[in-house]
Formats: sequence, structure tokens, C-alpha cells
Amino acid sequence: ARTFFVGGNFKMNGTNASIKKIVEDLNAVDLPSDVEVVISPPALYICWAKELLTNPTVKIAAQNAFPKSSGAYTGEIAAPQIKDAGADWVILGHSERRTIIKESNEFIAEKTAHALENGLGVILCIGELLEERDGGQTLVVCNRQLDAVIEKVKDWSNIVIAYEPVWAIGTGLAATPEDAQATHSEIRKYLAEKLGEDQASKIRILYGGSVNGKNAKSFSACPDIDGYLVGGASLKPEFVDIIKSRE
Ligand code: 13P
Repeated sequence: ARTFFVGGNFKMNGTNASIKKIVEDLNAVDLPSDVEVVISPPALYICWAKELLTNPTVKIAAQNAFPKSSGAYTGEIAAPQIKDAGADWVILGHSERRTIIKESNEFIAEKTAHALENGLGVILCIGELLEERDGGQTLVVCNRQLDAVIEKVKDWSNIVIAYEPVWAIGTGLAATPEDAQATHSEIRKYLAEKLGEDQASKIRILYGGSVNGKNAKSFSACPDIDGYLVGGASLKPEFVDIIKSRE
């Protein structure tokens, strides 16, 4: 069975004070032991979150990592530094980096391989734009995004996929559980073709895009939805309701 996984992507939000509050609130609750929880503050606050965190269920992710271990790359952060700061995971390929920062599939694949080689788990985000969905291209786009990584990485045991349809991110318009389940199932089928049934059956596929305390439960019953990657709601007390949504 795949362990349920709930990620909180804070994006470029937070202050010393607000991140302290979020972490202390997570420390204070009894979280289910069968859920993996990962919070992703901006890189500046990873050490701060690590210092405050006492709840052993909660781990930390960075939101990006450059595919070199050190050197003259002004403004970038490296996987070994992320580990050193106390994080175990990194989010790569988020749609905001793909569309706003113009990261290519190949660059994201290079980052994924490098992060894995340096002992980080990778939350690999994929997903289609609205016009791609309207054009019936959802799976073509997702498969292409996966292909670039499949070419460079054969062992996917430390990768969690986050399927985040771009039209659902920050819009309040989440995919329906039926739609998300159908896409997740196709993604798993594609992974089975490329990586084998055994690996594909073990890879967690998270849904992301306007998940909140109210709708989370409806996704968790779907057989191919193994958790969520939460944006806006991960900054709010309802993040705990999302983590507990399977109870
Ligand atoms: P929202 O939950 O704010 O829609 O964001 C989803 C997301 O992009 C998580 O990475």
C-alpha cells in the first residue's frame, strides 16, 4: 500500500512570525501516523522551520534546487545545502516555475536526477494548461513532462508525483475527484509502460489545485490519488483538516 502524502507548498509567502505560528500549530496537534506530511517554506525559512519543528511526522521540502552541488551560481540553492539546512525533500517542476521562470522539461529532469543523487526526495509536479486541456492534450502534456525525467532517472522510489492541472491552481476551481482519478489512473498506466508495473504501483501520485479543508475528503477515496499538494490552504489552520481528511 502507498503511504498517504500531504505536502504544503507555501510558495513565496511567509515571515519569521507567520512560519513560527504554522509550525507551532502543527507541533501542537496529533497527526495520523499513517500520513507523511511535508511543508515547504521559502528557502530562507527552512532553517527556522527546522529549528521550531518538534512533530516527527512533519518533514521539510525546498521549493527548488539547482542541478550543481556548489559553485558560481548566484541566487541558486544546492541539494546538499538543502539537506544541510534540515530538509529531506524538494519540489521540482512546479507550474509556476515552468510558466513564469520558463524552466524546460529537460532542465527539470536534470534537477530531479541531481537532487535524487544527493539524497533528497523529489516532489515532481506535472500538469496541463487550460488550453491544453481544452484541446484534449492533458495526457500528451503530462507524458511529455514525465518522459524527460524517465530518460534520466530509472529508480523512481524517491519520487512523488504531484499532478497539478494549472487551471485548478489558486483558482478555487479544483478538478472533480472523477476527473482527477481518471488522469491519475492514466498517469500510472503510462508509468507502468515505461518503468514497469512494480515501480508504477508504488509511486505516490498527489493531486494539487485548490485543495481545501472541505473538498479534501472527496479525493482521498479515489484509488489512484495518494495525497495532495496544497498551496493556499497550507498556510491556514485548515491544513490540519486536510492532513486528517481520511479519518
Ligand atoms: P493552491 O492549493 O493554492 O491551488 O495551489 C496548489 C499548488 O500549486 C501547490 O503546489
